[in-house]
Amino acid sequence: MLVLIADAFHSSLPDRLRALNVEVTEDQARQAEAEVLLIRSRTQCTREYIDASPALKLIIRGGVGLDNVDRAYAEQKGIAVVSTPEASSIAVAELTMSLMLSAVNQLVVGHNGMAAGRWLKKELHRTELFGKTLGLIGLGRIGSEVAKRATAFGMRVFAFDAYVEESDIAELVDFETLLSSADVISLHTPLTSETRGMVDAECLARCKAGVVIVNTGRAGCVDEAAMASALECGHVRCYATDVWTQDPPPADCPLLHAPNVLMVPHVGASTRENLLRIGEIIVHKIKRHRELERVQEDGWALR
Ligand code: NAD
Repeated sequence: MLVLIADAFHSSLPDRLRALNVEVTEDQARQAEAEVLLIRSRTQCTREYIDASPALKLIIRGGVGLDNVDRAYAEQKGIAVVSTPEASSIAVAELTMSLMLSAVNQLVVGHNGMAAGRWLKKELHRTELFGKTLGLIGLGRIGSEVAKRATAFGMRVFAFDAYVEESDIAELVDFETLLSSADVISLHTPLTSETRGMVDAECLARCKAGVVIVNTGRAGCVDEAAMASALECGHVRCYATDVWTQDPPPADCPLLHAPNVLMVPHVGASTRENLLRIGEIIVHKIKRHRELERVQEDGWALR
């Protein structure tokens, strides 16, 4: 069995896989021979990619969501597709809190000022999270971890989730109440036909003036042009984002030139601890895959 590691994982992963007695390569030129493909968000498993991988039986995406895999086509070709959604919640929740804290404390403005020889003490307008209302859009694994941490900071936590009916870590509210009440909004939904562009110009107009919006979910949930306009006029105080419609974003992405955007290059899941956790889950999934194959082979042999 040949395992192709196509994206960046923890450096210990190749040796841990070799310990299972499987052949491991990071050489993309061997794509056509690979039975198992390991990806994160960089590799796009399109129909063309799958057609160029005739030996493929299993795709494992280290992370949450399978938006970079043509899952229907893969499954039609008999290729199993799995991810590691249980791994990344702490890493993404901690980044979300970091973005929230950096935004309200204007850390980057202060840092850049000092790096340029300027002492912006009077110019920085810090505010506190304590006593403010956080509006979570999506209360799944990551939203729930953010809720716990925000509660510890003394925030009141509201959440809108189209599919969650009860919660003991956040007050469930409708979308309208969330928009009109939240001082900070944080997005934690997958990208679906329902969530694509859900934060658009009309939605932003219904938010409180000076709202801070954090996005560690998916870029496509936000209309970037509308967000850039809301930042230009100051209605949104800061948009802090880890996620982009394309990694890295194209030069004409309106957010790259809008004021008060706090940007990070899609590192939500990339803590050392999380990459190790993802590696452990991958090793487990490959073991399972081999066991299932053996059972199937034995089944055939008995017929
Ligand atoms: P999850 O499935 O546990 O939670 C998603 C929640 O969104 C669910 O509770 C679901 O009911 C809710 N939801 C779905 N559609 C909705 C809608 N139309 N309106 C309101 N709520 C809706 O997933 P998770 O593990 O919490 O991850 C959330 C998202 O974070 C992922 O889908 C992924 O897009 C993103 N993510 C980003 C990174 C990163 O590197 N920044 C890493 C991991 C995950």
